[in-house]
Amino acid sequence: MTVRPVTIRVVGSSRPHLRQAKRPYVYPNRRGPGGPPVPGADPNVEAGAACADVETELFFTDRPADIELAKSICESCPVRAACLERALDNNEQFGVFGGLTANQRRALRRKRARQVGGEAA
Ligand code: SF4
Repeated sequence: MTVRPVTIRVVGSSRPHLRQAKRPYVYPNRRGPGGPPVPGADPNVEAGAACADVETELFFTDRPADIELAKSICESCPVRAACLERALDNNEQFGVFGGLTANQRRALRRKRARQVGGEAA
């Protein structure tokens, strides 16, 4: 596999969670970019995010190459599992979270629901 060089523009605190996505979006840890922490939020997820200094657009793009790059950043993220669970809990409809796209998260949610249903039967 060849790895093409990629230029990532670093901009302030622009992780995907702070992004105003295709709908009004509020990051669970913040009331808005740079806003005060929300009581009860998990600051560890934000503090350890591998995407902290990566351009937010990368995680909310439709370009397959960018989606794969975003997912590769998530692969090395120390808070990946927590990020994914929170995205599932919040039913995030857009963007890459925890290394999964919105469609992949929907598939995972359906798979988990089937497993829970199978265990109950
Ligand atoms: S798993 Fe991905 S989207 Fe989530 S905090 Fe880490 S790098 Fe960001």
